[in-house]
Amino acid sequence: MGFVSDPVDYGLEEDRRQLYVRWRDGHESRYPLDDLRKVCPCADCHTAERPAERPQGGLQVLTGPVIGRGEIRIVQMAPVGRYALNFTWSDGHSTGIYSFDFLRSLCPCEICRSGAGQ
Ligand SMILES: [Zn+2]
Ligand SMILES: [Zn+2]
Repeated sequence: MGFVSDPVDYGLEEDRRQLYVRWRDGHESRYPLDDLRKVCPCADCHTAERPAERPQGGLQVLTGPVIGRGEIRIVQMAPVGRYALNFTWSDGHSTGIYSFDFLRSLCPCEICRSGAGQ
């Protein structure tokens, strides 16, 4: 595990509907739950890993019930070893494993989005 994707703390801010992760290098990331659900890396959601099943046109299709923005919640959060988190979503989906490497690369803050945070 890389240094920058080593978390020292993480948790849910239910009132703001976001997940926070504090990294060992002092950086803090906040992920809106809507966005987090959308990027679920599991095989069901991430059709890019199964190119044969991609619909024509290559559009990525999300499976599961459609839940509008502002509605999805995390009902359970569990660590997977020391390298990842697993969420059980309020739409019943729970097969996504979000590695901390993945989460760090997802950090939506301006510093990371500009490429200066790596
Ligand atoms: Zn998924
Ligand atoms: Zn960041």
